[in-house]
Amino acid sequence: MDPTGKRMKQLLQSDELTEYIFETSVYPREPAPLKELREATVSHTRAVFATAPDAGQLLGMLLKLVDAKKTIEIGVYTGYSLLLTALTIPEEGKIVAIDIDRETYEQIGLPIIKKASVEHKIDFIESQAVPALDKLLENQENQGSFDFAYVDADKANDWNYHERLLKLLKVGGLVVYDNTLVLGSVVCPEESNQRRRTELAIEHNKALAADPRIQISHVSVGDGMMICRRII
Ligand code: CA
Repeated sequence: MDPTGKRMKQLLQSDELTEYIFETSVYPREPAPLKELREATVSHTRAVFATAPDAGQLLGMLLKLVDAKKTIEIGVYTGYSLLLTALTIPEEGKIVAIDIDRETYEQIGLPIIKKASVEHKIDFIESQAVPALDKLLENQENQGSFDFAYVDADKANDWNYHERLLKLLKVGGLVVYDNTLVLGSVVCPEESNQRRRTELAIEHNKALAADPRIQISHVSVGDGMMICRRII
């Protein structure tokens, strides 16, 4: 909420400032397939769940900085961050993408991903994420082998994902959580119109801040992101 009680669409102090960042820095650099997928997602009923384009730009930077080749994505939705990852990692790179809903991805994201010729980098698993991660962990070779993970799913299981991802990631690897500030409502959960989601974010943010296995940076880009680097 802003001081006048209006629900904010962005975290920054004005929508104009958000637009400024989008128009100046994000949209001019957004690859054409990503623009197409963003525009195809806007009209979808759950468009609010999509990764914000400014947050996507930060993800692209982080992927390059850790030289990511092997990544995990939990929560695909239409596939904006998945396509972004596929376009950013090298030709031999691989993404394990997990979502309980294959249909939204296949209808909206996949045709654009195919057109961009990056489908071969993606292994889509239609499943709840906890059993899918447990299955990955059963193979010894997967442990400590991933460079990067992006979590943008149901939020209620974030800690279950975290424990498993820290085993799958290399030391130095990153896990990034999306929607950590829930439109700013983490400071006023009683006023949130998504109260459960807000409470889960508050709990998860606190747990991450207390986790000695990671270095963190909590950034107010998009809807808030927690960047965590495995240090031990
Ligand atoms: Ca999200």
